[in-house]
Amino acid sequence: MHDPIYTALSGVSKLETHPGILSIYKYDFLAIPKRLLRFVKTPICVVQPKNDEEVVKILEISERFGIPVITRGTGTSGYGGCVPLERCIIVDMKNFNRVVIQDHTAVVESGAIWLDVESYANKFGKALRVYPTSATVSTVGGWIAQNGYGIGSLKFGSIGENVEWLEVADYNGIKLIKGDKLKYYIGAFGTTGIILRACIRLREATPIRSSTFECSFEEALRKIDGAYHANFKDRCHMKFERLGDGDVLLVSYEGEGESSELGEILWGRRLRPLKALTTDKIYSEAVVPYENAFEFYKKAKEISLGLEAIFASNCVIFLGLFGRNLKQYLKALKFVKIAENLGGGVYTTGMLFPHKNKAKRELKEYKNSVDPEGLLNPNKAFQNNAFSKIMKIGERFLWTV
Ligand SMILES: Cc1cc2nc3c(=O)[nH]c(=O)nc-3n(C[C@H](O)[C@H](O)[C@H](O)COP(=O)(O)OP(=O)(O)OC[C@H]3O[C@@H](n4cnc5c(N)ncnc54)[C@H](O)[C@@H]3O)c2cc1C
Repeated sequence: MHDPIYTALSGVSKLETHPGILSIYKYDFLAIPKRLLRFVKTPICVVQPKNDEEVVKILEISERFGIPVITRGTGTSGYGGCVPLERCIIVDMKNFNRVVIQDHTAVVESGAIWLDVESYANKFGKALRVYPTSATVSTVGGWIAQNGYGIGSLKFGSIGENVEWLEVADYNGIKLIKGDKLKYYIGAFGTTGIILRACIRLREATPIRSSTFECSFEEALRKIDGAYHANFKDRCHMKFERLGDGDVLLVSYEGEGESSELGEILWGRRLRPLKALTTDKIYSEAVVPYENAFEFYKKAKEISLGLEAIFASNCVIFLGLFGRNLKQYLKALKFVKIAENLGGGVYTTGMLFPHKNKAKRELKEYKNSVDPEGLLNPNKAFQNNAFSKIMKIGERFLWTV
């Protein structure tokens, strides 16, 4: 049935159609409850383009056959951004991994792994300003498409705030995106174009020194001024990670100086190993403005099994730990609801929270102009789907937990 598509694509790019491989590309790090698996579709095939021309040709074939495309980094996002809800072509960007270091910026292809970019930049005396704690495995394109916060976000903000320009491909070819238009791609989960490369701002590779404080969350909020990076783990979270049993703030500064012993350990462990993820727990994430962060902390503590906070330049990102049963899933949703009531909200949208996308109308209009057939990662970011509808229904039961 798909033979004409296979034939068209095999002349263009490395093509994968083995059912075993295709089943891997059905998922990302999102734990999908068994009953909802029926909404997930097996992709028609996976392609791994090697250059811009191949990406353009794949898009031509997608348009000709009316088959959606989903761009994929390494699938660590956990928001279902690359989970197919329709039969589609998966565009795996693993071969887009070149990096060029300039004076204060790097031009990076979207499939490059963050830690590889950091190591390469270090050879030129430069360093990434921000990177996710999944940097050992996740890609530049994936994090930009999700607009995440991470290490360094206290000083430098989200990854979106550190992008100078993007080069993207869509059904009209390749274009350079700068200034105000970046908002249509950063955090859009690949629904408006395939990011080919990004120009990102770098910092000088000055050393980082770290200290820790055993203190309350309220005290932590007063100790982070002027730091490059700071995060807080409550005692339950510390226990869960087998790091101790007190509430601990890690504060890291740029520049020479002594680190404390625990500071060095926690900074050394800032890149979260995937093995730290368990099968019996899930994380819920929420963004909260500084003025309400303490209020959120007190309320979130009552419902979560452990709390972590990452301090960013203009907001605090909270990670709450929850179990894996219906009641706990509802509590994980309540975590986001509490943030919304305090002027914050969901960390990002992906497949689960398109209904909460604040720029929905604007994105919709832009998408219609670049992708009138709706073939670029349909059902994500701001377009409702079966999962977001179920999340909405779940919200009606929040009073029960
Ligand atoms: C252990 C662990 C730690 C993490 N730490 C952090 C953290 O500190 N901060 C944070 O924000 N997140 C974090 N995450 C989530 C995730 O790792 C990041 O968001 C990551 O950068 C996603 O990259 P990826 O390559 O896995 O993207 P994917 O999951 O492959 O893709 C994410 C979305 O981007 C789209 N996409 C991918 N590539 C492109 C492209 N080239 N063009 C257009 N769209 C594209 C996909 O379609 C999908 O919708 C963590 C996850 C894990 C498992």
